[in-house]
Amino acid sequence: PPEPTAPTTAPEDLVARLADLQQDYAALQARGLTLDLTRGKPSAEQLDLSDALLALPGEGVHTDADGTDVRNYGGLQGLPQLRRIFAELLGLPIEQLLAAGNASLTLMYDTLTYATLFGVPGSERPWGQEERVRFICPVPGYDRHFTVCEALGIEMITVPMTPDGPDAEAVAALVADDPSIKGMWVVPTYANPDGSVVSEDVARRLVSMPTAAPDFRILWDNAYALHHLTEDEATSADAVGLAAEAGHPDRVVLFASTSKITFAGAGVAFLGSSPANVAWFSKHLSAQSIGPDKVNQLRHALFFGDAEGVRVHMRKHRDILAPKFDAVIGVLAERLGEVATWSVPRGGYFVTLAVQPGTASRVVELARAAGIALTPAGAAFPYGDDPQDSILRLAPTLPPLDEVRVAMDGVATCVLLAGAERAAD
Ligand code: PMP
Repeated sequence: PPEPTAPTTAPEDLVARLADLQQDYAALQARGLTLDLTRGKPSAEQLDLSDALLALPGEGVHTDADGTDVRNYGGLQGLPQLRRIFAELLGLPIEQLLAAGNASLTLMYDTLTYATLFGVPGSERPWGQEERVRFICPVPGYDRHFTVCEALGIEMITVPMTPDGPDAEAVAALVADDPSIKGMWVVPTYANPDGSVVSEDVARRLVSMPTAAPDFRILWDNAYALHHLTEDEATSADAVGLAAEAGHPDRVVLFASTSKITFAGAGVAFLGSSPANVAWFSKHLSAQSIGPDKVNQLRHALFFGDAEGVRVHMRKHRDILAPKFDAVIGVLAERLGEVATWSVPRGGYFVTLAVQPGTASRVVELARAAGIALTPAGAAFPYGDDPQDSILRLAPTLPPLDEVRVAMDGVATCVLLAGAERAAD
């Protein structure tokens, strides 16, 4: 499916329907709903899939396959038994993959913090001593990436997303002669929020393009690498390997976690990159930590057993999630065919909905007043600024299926009413 973009034609008949839509909306409000489509959280039913973790490793089980006592200090790089499983799934040599704490976002923040304080391999000076540091943010994108940049004083510039990932030609043109552009965000597989998958061609272009900055980094956030919604399972491009092949071995830093595989608040996060970047990250990490929570890492290794164990587990998530996404797409197709466009993701946690330009904030406001919480309009853009006020992110994973249907029907009413109001304006 094409990238959702703001629809430009408001059908005349929307204006004619204004009075009816106002009535529909009043009826919606009268239902007194409290529904939430704001954040990409797993549902309780999904969390239950991993409940066996709560009894692992179990009393008396405290050594890993190599005989290490996981209760004690040490092992900064993470437990090999678990790294081996995820190295296979993420397509990296085990020596190039660290297992850390519970949040990959922390690893991303730490990577950019170390870069700011100390520079990365290839830097002429710490990024914090540069006059200006800028990052490319493909839009729509993940709001917490933007928050990390803002927190560290990194300015953001946008490029559009395409169905094959970020617009690589636009990126290549920007980085070619501007050394202040030090890096970019990429969510390569089932992107948050548009569900796109970076093609092999786009990956090759991004890892091989010449950059004016000698220390350019791609933060390759593969949060949804294994999170398929259909049997047509996307394979992530091997960005770390392709970068090495292209002669830029240190360009890509990969992140992943089990936040949406086991427990969102108590999973394990991973960082994968070139040997030089892994050594660089480990060196700075060693001043910050004596070692990660290896008990949790062992628990995860025992729970999965091997890479196939993870794949089997992910199919159980798919069985819970696919009907919710089908419900979202079904309601959109049935009710908004002519006034909006949307992504049809094959994986991940989100649907992107593009409504009439100038109405996204109004849709969120109408929905809120009807008891349906949506992610704020603009959240998928740096500084919260969607220049067209058109893009909405829908997150259907948390509520039960029947609530997803009710909420989406309500959202459709709000989209139609906002469009009619605007057309009548
Ligand atoms: N990256 C992306 C693209 C995400 O959507 C999320 C979760 N919403 C995260 C990272 C957060 O990952 P973690 O829980 O490992 O910090």
